[in-house]
This record gives sequence, structure tokens and C-alpha cells, in this order.
Amino acid sequence: MKYQAIIDEIHAEVQYLFGRGNVADYIPALAGVDARKLGIAVHTLDGECVEAGDSRERFSIQSISKVFNLALAMRIVGDEVFGRVGVEPSGNPFNSLVQLEQEKGIPRNPFINAGALVIADILLDHLDRPNEEMLAFVGKLRCDDVRYDESVVESEKACGFVNKALGNFMKAHGNITHDVEAVLDAYYHQCAIEMSCVGLATSFLFLANGGVVPGTGMRVLTASQAKRVNAIMLTCGFYDEAGSFAYHVGLPGKSGVGGGIVAVIPGLLAIAVWSPELNRYGNSVLGIKVLELFTTRTGKSVF
Ligand code: GLN
Repeated sequence: MKYQAIIDEIHAEVQYLFGRGNVADYIPALAGVDARKLGIAVHTLDGECVEAGDSRERFSIQSISKVFNLALAMRIVGDEVFGRVGVEPSGNPFNSLVQLEQEKGIPRNPFINAGALVIADILLDHLDRPNEEMLAFVGKLRCDDVRYDESVVESEKACGFVNKALGNFMKAHGNITHDVEAVLDAYYHQCAIEMSCVGLATSFLFLANGGVVPGTGMRVLTASQAKRVNAIMLTCGFYDEAGSFAYHVGLPGKSGVGGGIVAVIPGLLAIAVWSPELNRYGNSVLGIKVLELFTTRTGKSVF
């Protein structure tokens, strides 16, 4: 299928939605991002790569990094990670403390903040230089435009009182083993990875390809693990909007408060969208609409 015409048409069509959301100003370094941005990139397993708008501009991937975090941990320790974090949708905001208290420090899934902190804690057991090794891992997914924005790291460290509370609460329950500050440092670095839509679509292709990076042939995960990551993206990738995303879009995906969303169609392609205005769930307003129109117009989804 030729995707360029579809992408161009959708890019023009969703412009009316600008002004309906807000950029993530709870992280001061993100508050100044230009809200009127829209980038789209589609990368197929056949090697077709089409893009529209601000598709090459780097942005803060934020919680999209939780997928890299999980994939790297599963690569190292396998399904053992699920002894300390669940695989159920939370139905709650991404930084909710209430549920964690009720469930005694075991996060519902790896894609809410508490879950990602536990995964980062697991990685600290195995990596000598976690921040360097995370960047190297993403680089191996055939993405060379990846780096940290240290100003975002510092900004989150200065204002991340809720994340600190989540970390301390889980430490009290024995589900964080390292120093909470060290876990937060690794977590904030992941969140502060800067990539473009083109880079993100490329780097997620292994999840459309049974765990293998197309082109290099590197196996990141077993086929079964890749299927599981996709299942968690479908059920938990959009926090308390996961059901609505599955209903409107019908793809496994992951969002971040930088305004990015990546989704995959197993066996076919990965698509990344970036537009910084967020809805009340912390998901990109234009991003969701672009993906909804994409699956409608192409007739492709996992259902
Ligand atoms: N760094 C952000 C935070 O910890 C990530 C949240 C997100 O993208 N949903 O709050």
C-alpha cells in the first residue's frame, strides 16, 4: 500500500484540532515547547518510509521510553520482571499513588510511572552504566538520532515530587532495592531521550517483526516476548485512556507527555506521531486523531 498520500491528507485534515489541548507544563523544561507541531512517520517492514510535517524534529519521548525500558529488562532477565510488576491496565492516571498503596507497592503494569521505576531498579542490578547502555540499546534498534536532553532531566529532578513519593513508597514495600535517587536518575534519563518521529518509527519495528530488528537481523526479544510487549501496549499504553485508544485506533501503542505516540501493526509497520498538545489523560490530541484516521483509511488494525 502507498501510505504517502494518506499521511499527507491526514496531516492537513487534523490541523483544526490545534488549541484543544495543553502542553505538559508540569515539567518546566517542556512548558516552552511550540504547541503547533505535527510530525508523522510510517516505516514498513518492506522498507517503505513515508513522513509528513515535523517528522524529523527531535522531541522528548517521555513515557514512550517505558517500552525500551521493559524490552531491555526482558532481554536481560526474561519474564522474571513480571514477578515485581503486573500486566493489568491501571484505569488510573500514570502517576497515581492511590492504587499503589492499595496493592502494597506492586505496580499494575510497566507502563505507569511506578512500574517503570521498578523496571529501572531491575536494570540497575545488571547494568554498570545504565544511562549509556540505554542509549546504546536504542541505537541498536537502527536509530542514530537519539540523545538525552539534560535540561529535561534536571527539570524533572527538581519538580518530580510524585515520582519520588512513588519510589519511596515502593522502597518501603521492598519493591525498590537500589537507592531511590539512583533509580530516579535512570528513569528521568530514559524519559529525557530525544528522538524524531522517523527515529521512533524505525526503532519500534522490531515489535512489528516478532522481536527482530529488520535489516540487521538482531533479535531483541523472542517472538513470544514481543507479542507480550505488544499486548501490554494495547491494554496499558495509554493509562486511563487505553480502552478508548483500542476502540478508536485498534493498535498496540505507547504515548508520552512530550506529545509523541508510537503504534505498531504486527507483520506490517510502525507509525510515530508527534504533536505536543495533550488531552486530560496526558495523550496527544492530534496524535490520537491521526492514528484513528490512519487505521480507518488504511483498513488496517489488529482487530
Ligand atoms: N517523565 C514523566 C513523568 O514522570 C513521564 C510521564 C509520561 O510521559 N506519561 O511524569
